[in-house]
Amino acid sequence: MRAEAPTGLSAFPREGKSLRCGSFKLRDLADRFGTPLYVYSMDFVRERFRQVESAFASADPLLAYSVKANGNLALLNRLAALGSGADIVSGGELFRAVKAGVTPGKILFAGVGKTDEELKAGLDARIYSFNVETIDELHRLDDFATELGARAPFGVRINPDIQAPTPHQYTRTGHAETKFGLPVPVAVGLYRWAKTRPHLRPRGIDVHIGSEIVDPVPYKKALRQVLEVVHLLKKEDIHLEYVDIGGGFGIGDGSGGMDMGALSDELLSVFQGSGLRMILEPGRFLVAEAGVLLTSVRAVKRSGDHVFVVTDAGMNDLLRPSHYRSHHPVEAAVVQKDRKVEVVDVVGPVCETGDFLALDRSMPLPRAGEVLAVGNVGAYGFSMASNYNARPRPAEVLVDGDEVLLVRERESFEDLIRGEVIP
Ligand SMILES: *Cc1c(COP(=O)(O)O)cnc(C)c1O
Repeated sequence: MRAEAPTGLSAFPREGKSLRCGSFKLRDLADRFGTPLYVYSMDFVRERFRQVESAFASADPLLAYSVKANGNLALLNRLAALGSGADIVSGGELFRAVKAGVTPGKILFAGVGKTDEELKAGLDARIYSFNVETIDELHRLDDFATELGARAPFGVRINPDIQAPTPHQYTRTGHAETKFGLPVPVAVGLYRWAKTRPHLRPRGIDVHIGSEIVDPVPYKKALRQVLEVVHLLKKEDIHLEYVDIGGGFGIGDGSGGMDMGALSDELLSVFQGSGLRMILEPGRFLVAEAGVLLTSVRAVKRSGDHVFVVTDAGMNDLLRPSHYRSHHPVEAAVVQKDRKVEVVDVVGPVCETGDFLALDRSMPLPRAGEVLAVGNVGAYGFSMASNYNARPRPAEVLVDGDEVLLVRERESFEDLIRGEVIP
């Protein structure tokens, strides 16, 4: 076997000319399943899961994988088999998680706008806890738990007013001006009130400061704040069981993501001895680098001094570049000889100027029919895909050891009109 060359695609090394996932050539997968195609490496996800688990081993944490990053049933099912719980933000994600085999007792329900139906569904499923983000939500939870004769476990999501540096303003959630969480004094009031309500069970406390964060320090600051609240409540005879520190651990787009060892050192130094259960909600960190989007080049065209590589994947398949200006490595699935390196825009077929996968990228000029791999798309890739321009969503393939599994069929035109009527 030839030596593997490292690429910008961590889980997809190049052997000779070809990018691979395990023992499979990406080009072969594109030929077999068609493009655009999402391919995930389960081995990579497992390694990441174990990495987080072992960094925090001494705190025996619950890892509640954030389903919104990638809710594919087969992926969830395998994460559940590793012992993962789930962080969910909707009734649909609850449905998904339970279908996939996640233990309800390991599910945490977040979100600022939970509906009555969602609260009831969570109670029915007996999830581990509701991370409450509004006063009204806790009142409704109390009503429904009373009707059911149940005791609703909850934690309040604290807004710690911490500005964590994230690459895009849309991924900041921990400062006072965002819609997320509640200020500490309001949260304390809610716990006091809940203590008087027999159908509410104050179980924990939650914080989530944003996404794509690579610095452990803001997490430590947030943890210090919530631990202060825990101690204050303890004096009032309100005993919490868990501290949920959220997710948001960055992958650093190739420049080195969150150092889990450093994060656990920082967090455990203040957490150790608290007697609480630590909950972490990694999403992106587990799955982002485990995914590539394979796309075929449709055409190469020049306009002025711009070179456009037009692919069959667009913003409906991968929204992140146009929505967050995110950077994704783009590489040829098979390296071709004697190609001139040019600066190109890799664009999709959707009728929007914002429809691009990569801008100003220096790369060997590909030709029509060749396959490109767009990296770091395992998180918020397929889960943000849409049918815009009446484009069926791509298929998803999971490579698990020496197996290639089609885990979601490509959508058909019939799928596009399901539920529509012409009255
Ligand atoms: C989105 C989200 C996460 C996961 O964020 P990542 O950046 O994917 O790690 C965790 N917890 C909550 C409450 C979230 O909303």
